Amino acid sequence: MCGIVGYIGDKQAYPILINGLKRLEYRGYDSAGVALRTNRTQVFKCKGKVQDLENHAKGSDVSGSIGIGHTRWATHGEPNDQNAHPHSSMNNKFVIIHNGIIENYSSLKEKLIKRGYTFQSDTDTEVLANLIEYIYLKGEVSAELAVRLALTKVVGAYGLVVICDDEPDKLIAARKGSPLVVGVGNGEYFLASDATPIIEYTNSVIYLNDNDVAIISRDELVLKTIQNDKLTPHIQQLDLDIEQIEKGGYDHFMLKEIFEQTSSIHDTIRGRISTTNKEVFLGGINDVIPQLVNARRILIIGCGTSWHAGMVGEYLFEEFARIPVEVEYASEFRYRNPVIFKDDIVLAISQSGETADTLAAIKLAKEAGATVLGICNVVGSSIPRETHAGVYTHAGPEIGVASTKAFTAQVTVLTMMAMLVGYRKGTLSKEVYQELIAEFANLPEKIKRILDKEEDIKELSKKYMDSTNALYLGRGFLFPVALEGALKLKEISYIHAEGYPAAEMKHGPIALIDEQMPVFVVATKDKSYEKIVSNIQEVKARKGHVIAIVTEGDTVISEMADHVVEIPETLEPLAPLLTVIPFQLISYYIAVYRGCNVDQPRNLAKSVTVE
Ligand code: GLU
Repeated sequence: MCGIVGYIGDKQAYPILINGLKRLEYRGYDSAGVALRTNRTQVFKCKGKVQDLENHAKGSDVSGSIGIGHTRWATHGEPNDQNAHPHSSMNNKFVIIHNGIIENYSSLKEKLIKRGYTFQSDTDTEVLANLIEYIYLKGEVSAELAVRLALTKVVGAYGLVVICDDEPDKLIAARKGSPLVVGVGNGEYFLASDATPIIEYTNSVIYLNDNDVAIISRDELVLKTIQNDKLTPHIQQLDLDIEQIEKGGYDHFMLKEIFEQTSSIHDTIRGRISTTNKEVFLGGINDVIPQLVNARRILIIGCGTSWHAGMVGEYLFEEFARIPVEVEYASEFRYRNPVIFKDDIVLAISQSGETADTLAAIKLAKEAGATVLGICNVVGSSIPRETHAGVYTHAGPEIGVASTKAFTAQVTVLTMMAMLVGYRKGTLSKEVYQELIAEFANLPEKIKRILDKEEDIKELSKKYMDSTNALYLGRGFLFPVALEGALKLKEISYIHAEGYPAAEMKHGPIALIDEQMPVFVVATKDKSYEKIVSNIQEVKARKGHVIAIVTEGDTVISEMADHVVEIPETLEPLAPLLTVIPFQLISYYIAVYRGCNVDQPRNLAKSVTVE
């Protein structure tokens, strides 16, 4: 996820692009750049924020009334000057900005290298720039046709804008999977990933659809499909303020990020799960798969939500790959005298990739000779640089302090890893492996069905806004979900909450239950179902309030619980990915009803870079 902007008109492009990039900085901020068109195309780009780009361009000629700009959230290649966008093609015929992932970039790159192309960056985007140029020069076609033909060869997602050196008075924009909006002014057009950079100039916008290509000059916009079918642009009038648009119309980033899970989960599996070949492929750890298959032990290290994801990982690796796993709090691990074997695989999980305790634990594990792998969201952050190999979660920037989509992305990566290792090892049957692969494809739609229940969940949350304590219960794969549910409530609503394995309740916490106590139970249909029904009865017998997450169509629990939230049926190992979502929404709404600052809860920071 990154932010892109474009301008064509009579005004100076540079300030419009810089302001636009600042508005889009929430989408990515590891590097930034602009390309400006005068009698030639000039590119300014550097690692860092938009402010760094401004400093970098200070004193240079930044005139020109056509230009494009980009603020990056790296997916391919670490954040540095070379990998920053815009990218120029080898013979400088094209300059491009891109948001998304070109999944087949490595095979395209190989072909281009064979045809004499060289590359300056590690990005997938530069491959696309060179592919467009190759088609343009070889086929002697127009810039527009070269772009459209190149896009037919691309697998993946893109929102992109291109300038061709030979046809300098136009911008060519295209979209598939990544957002792109055109602002329609008087003798001028604006382009951006969302409407925030546009709204101060015009309210008239065109949202591009997948497969749309827009060829934009100062006084005309031609809209067509990649296949050259002409389209009629649908101009809409926006009536929103800037802050609302930044949050995509949601009241808080947390809510936006909860809702983004339909697509973020898709981004995490994109290019890694092939439903056609029925395979999982994790390029980042491909070389260490044999080591994982033969591992005697895996140590998973994390803090907070990442530690909960790690616990799901423990259950998954044990189930699929029959490898003993220990899940460690990074802070404890580093200050104990942990036993680390040279043949241990250590798996460090962190959304930001900067968590100080996790970094210190990684150092310790490396010193002991273990192989250390990372699961992080922020590309090029410290943990990916410190580890031997790893997998990015690709969930897009998470701004809300309480982690939501990063958790489901981490669990998704862990599930894919455990499946792959189990399958290669022969402990996970081909049949189950492929069943899981097929079910992954259904998850975005199932998540949507849960999110559609927002109003019911909101109403239910209101009933518990004045609680002072809460208990969360789950079993098996769903015990870590109970922990995560409790943590979410604590973090943003400041209600004391505890997560417990449901069967542990009778060994202590049951003493807390009275008519004031809400007990949130994950009780979907799985092998512990009968047991969890008994646990619910134990709570009810002591007058506790039961709010149960159940499988659609469950009539047994709805008879005994005070409230149920039904979720679609899925395979047991994938249930954490669905069952956590109602908990995220419940915490969110309880916090909102209590008037708490949801996106910036007291005493907390997004990335804990201190020990
Ligand atoms: N894949 C491109 C890159 O790594 C674009 C990333 C993005 O959309 O944030 O530079």
